[in-house]
Amino acid sequence: MLALQKIRAEIGVALAQASDPGAPAPHELLIKVAAAGICGTDLHLDHWAEGFRFIAPLLPVTLGHEFTGEVIAIGAEVSGFALGDRVVVQPALSCGVCIYCAAGRHHDCLNRIGLGMQVSGGFASHVFAPAKHCLHVPPEIDAELGALIEPLTTSAHAVALGEIGPGARVVVFGPGPIGQGAAIFARRAGAAEVAVIGHGDTARFATLRRLGFDTLIDLAEPDGAARLTRLAGAGFDVALEASGAPPVINTGLSCLRPYGTFVLAGMPEREASLDVMLIVRGRHRMIGCSRAPDSAWRTVIDALVQDPAAFRPMITHRLPLAEAVAGFQLAHSREASKVLLFP
Ligand SMILES: [Zn+2]
Ligand SMILES: [Zn+2]
Repeated sequence: MLALQKIRAEIGVALAQASDPGAPAPHELLIKVAAAGICGTDLHLDHWAEGFRFIAPLLPVTLGHEFTGEVIAIGAEVSGFALGDRVVVQPALSCGVCIYCAAGRHHDCLNRIGLGMQVSGGFASHVFAPAKHCLHVPPEIDAELGALIEPLTTSAHAVALGEIGPGARVVVFGPGPIGQGAAIFARRAGAAEVAVIGHGDTARFATLRRLGFDTLIDLAEPDGAARLTRLAGAGFDVALEASGAPPVINTGLSCLRPYGTFVLAGMPEREASLDVMLIVRGRHRMIGCSRAPDSAWRTVIDALVQDPAAFRPMITHRLPLAEAVAGFQLAHSREASKVLLFP
């Protein structure tokens, strides 16, 4: 079968012929992929960013961890799934035995393995996944919205970590899919104001307008920084960082109110410099956000069932898997929001 793979420990990804799937292992499902999204993590792997080179001994590997599909074969020891069930996979595969797994916190597993990073993922027609990491997708959520579930869990988790509630003033840095999702979940949580900050992001701002957000500031524009300062006024309650652009961290800290909360969900490819005095004097709280727990998955699935139309504009490009390399170029460019591949 055709698969988009990281083949060598250097820059680039490529289409390759992977072996056709056999039967699933006793604890696994075999899933026919319906739609799969390109994630920032995939772009880091394409770039061969420093923080992802630990997978070198495992190459080649089929990428893709944001996907939905249909169960077409079921391992002998699996219960709770039937042929034809539509599922989404939690791609952080857990060991089941470490202290966190034993405590029911599988998302914090010490020995996690990334499906689509360390074992073959969903940029192919078929993928195996442990049944314990598969969730049913309700009929209200179609295949392409289903492919948004995994990235949206990061957005929903960021909003939960920021304890955003009714009346909150929220600023989101990074207008890509994670930031778009964070803005939507902040609005759903009752935020009074959600501003989104970009840097040379005209196309993604157009997507945000379609999503219903119009407080948008582009820091690449000459008056961008001054506009942000004016907008911040006495300070935002919560800043959500979803750009992975290192300079944004100090900018975000400087527009929080005293005791404001800064949630970091973006993944910088380089070390970021941090003006610690902004935190000390501002009495701020900084929280790292990754590995969304099951509660975030429930939040996202419920939100997509209730209001699918609120999320669909996030998908800006749809391509066949055979054009995956072009899809990666699109995702790298700031023209696209979420790029989906269809095997
Ligand atoms: Zn992802
Ligand atoms: Zn574990």
